[in-house]
Amino acid sequence: MTTQCIFTKVFFAGAKLMLEKWATDKDLNKFSQYFSEQWLSHLCYWYEGAARFTPSSNNGLESLNGRIKQHYTMRNKLPLAPFLQLAEKMLVDWSINNVQQPFQLHLTINNDLDVKAYDWINKVDRNDILQLDAFTFVVPSKEPQMNTCSWVNCLYSMTWSSYEHFKQWLGSARILNYSNMLPPIFCSCKYGLKEYSCIHTIGLMMIWSVQPIPQLIGKRNPKGRRKKVKYALSKD
Ligand SMILES: [Zn+2]
Repeated sequence: MTTQCIFTKVFFAGAKLMLEKWATDKDLNKFSQYFSEQWLSHLCYWYEGAARFTPSSNNGLESLNGRIKQHYTMRNKLPLAPFLQLAEKMLVDWSINNVQQPFQLHLTINNDLDVKAYDWINKVDRNDILQLDAFTFVVPSKEPQMNTCSWVNCLYSMTWSSYEHFKQWLGSARILNYSNMLPPIFCSCKYGLKEYSCIHTIGLMMIWSVQPIPQLIGKRNPKGRRKKVKYALSKD
């Protein structure tokens, strides 16, 4: 079963449990019916993980909107004619910018993530990291409410006693898929889904020695602004 299939099955199983929970409250009948028709039958691919490695937020659009206000319109409402002139200038600027700074095609793993991943592999109990097949792994979440063995049993049987049990299960472990071999690697944690890299994917690669372990662990600079360089011969 591919990770995408697993996600779809889990989504529908969770939705079924949620509808069962709503069915106990007759005030929710109408909404439950609407939800089921609209968001399960007609438009069912809205859940996080429905399309892997594609943007799942409109952050890019919001950022562009911000840049238009900050650098071009200066937050003024413009009449149509000046706005069209400005729009032409924006298009020219962005076209030139796209040539000078092409779209990034590879993932850059920053040092901060490396350090957090190293911290995670030192804290996690490695017996809790399970391998499901050649590329698929399960790791415990930060605050698991069941162990990864029970988690995998629920995943295979797709049976949960209630929607609450399903929610506990969902938050207890993360599933990773290494079929890409190199980053971006899929992880079902919220950072993995949005940023295509997380402490789990990098951490496992550190355990396998395919990702270097960051240097100077324990000797990192403290957080916050550094002290100003003092004048020579000045006193504290
Ligand atoms: Zn993750």
